[in-house]
Amino acid sequence: MRIAVVGTGYVGLVTGTCFAEVGIDVTCIDIDERKIENLRQGILPIYEPGLEEMVERNAQKGRLSFSTDLSEVVESCGCEAVFIAVGTPPGEDGSADLKYVLAVARHIGRSLKGYTVVVTKSTVPVGTARKVRQAIAEELEARGEQIDFDVASNPEFLKEGAAIDDFLKPDRIVVGVESERAEQVMSRLYKPFLMNGHPLIFMDIPSAEMTKYAANAMLATKISFMNDVANLCEIMGADVNMVRRGIGSDARIGNKFIYPGIGYGGSCFPKDVKALIKTASENGYAMQVLQAVEQVNERQKSVLFDKVVAHFNGDLAGRTFAVWGLSFKPKTDDMREAPSLVIIERLLEAGARVKAYDPVAMAEARHSLGDRVEYGKDEYEALIDADALLLVTEWPEFRSPNFSVVGKLMKEKVVFDGRNIYDGAELAAKGFAYHGIGVAQQVPQLDSTSATE
Ligand code: NAD
Repeated sequence: MRIAVVGTGYVGLVTGTCFAEVGIDVTCIDIDERKIENLRQGILPIYEPGLEEMVERNAQKGRLSFSTDLSEVVESCGCEAVFIAVGTPPGEDGSADLKYVLAVARHIGRSLKGYTVVVTKSTVPVGTARKVRQAIAEELEARGEQIDFDVASNPEFLKEGAAIDDFLKPDRIVVGVESERAEQVMSRLYKPFLMNGHPLIFMDIPSAEMTKYAANAMLATKISFMNDVANLCEIMGADVNMVRRGIGSDARIGNKFIYPGIGYGGSCFPKDVKALIKTASENGYAMQVLQAVEQVNERQKSVLFDKVVAHFNGDLAGRTFAVWGLSFKPKTDDMREAPSLVIIERLLEAGARVKAYDPVAMAEARHSLGDRVEYGKDEYEALIDADALLLVTEWPEFRSPNFSVVGKLMKEKVVFDGRNIYDGAELAAKGFAYHGIGVAQQVPQLDSTSATE
């Protein structure tokens, strides 16, 4: 089989590469010439564990190629399906901006030669497949051609940082179709990924489009709910870590996505929650739960900064803060809507100096933070002379640092743990002041000099 994937970002590149991995002939297309030139040389535009080797292997086998010329690929490749995986960023009013998706659809309409399934993989609101179909039909009409095609909706559920595994071994694959023929093409394409008995769920197109938003909205709701509970725990003297374990062992609730923190970020949850609220309001319905989810999340992004202000009695000017972790979550370089950006901007506004370290996201972070932040060559260097450490992204390498070294490098032994990865009592015993989320703050138990010996 042959397919084309348009857009070589987190979703498009993983999709194309994973299809190639199971033997399908794939051309990945992007308008960004530099990205394509780099990809041809094995240089990836994104960090995703395991992806580089997989791209290289499949490119060498001749199953994976890269192009900037969508027309040429669609005209000549005889593709059974073209996947649209371009961005759908939030417009000014919060709705998903479909200009990239529809531009690609029109382009496909101008180039189509024979029956093809045009599959929307980007996250798009209900009704988008209809617009994609219309855009293609208009172009065909302008060409005076009658070529059979189908549209399908195939939302993507991969997680950055675990994208390859998620794609190769998906919990489920959701496909919205409106013809038997399209269903057959999609069934054949996805057959190699169904080895673990996970379902390929066919449904109507609007339901498939809605499924993606409902999934992300549900996950965002769990996060905001737990953050709300965490804040109340702190007020009431309860420990949210205990509460989390207590509720997570209930199979109806489950133990995933109930970790308190400093708010969700990334390229999906914030924009998808906004877009669903907007879709509802445009159709005369208020998504009240989601409105609250969004408000709680906005507030949560300030929680760590507020703790810093309280600890230092509002006197942050001239102080130095070490920030561990910049990406919106571990194992990705994605900085879109990262809570770190909000916290760092607030620290800088307050006149503080920020020294940051992230295993992979520092280059990406420079785009928005520039040289206003100092970047450490490792996590320990970022600590030198710091008045406090802010743990912002829970990269595995930050989980068990050598706290003797940490304490010696810092000016003051204060830790703000935005992800509750440290044991506050243990840190207090080592002479640190500890602030977590939804847990009692801990004061240093020992004299700081003896504590670090
Ligand atoms: P991205 O910004 O990383 O990549 C989009 C790519 O599309 C860019 O490389 C861009 O140059 C390219 N592009 C834009 N217009 C183009 C055009 N006309 N022709 C060819 N290429 C074009 O985006 P992403 O994170 O991969 O997300 C893509 C879509 O998938 C979005 O709708 C997103 O909501 C959805 N999604 C993302 C994730 C995720 O974890 N990132 C997960 C599931 C779904």
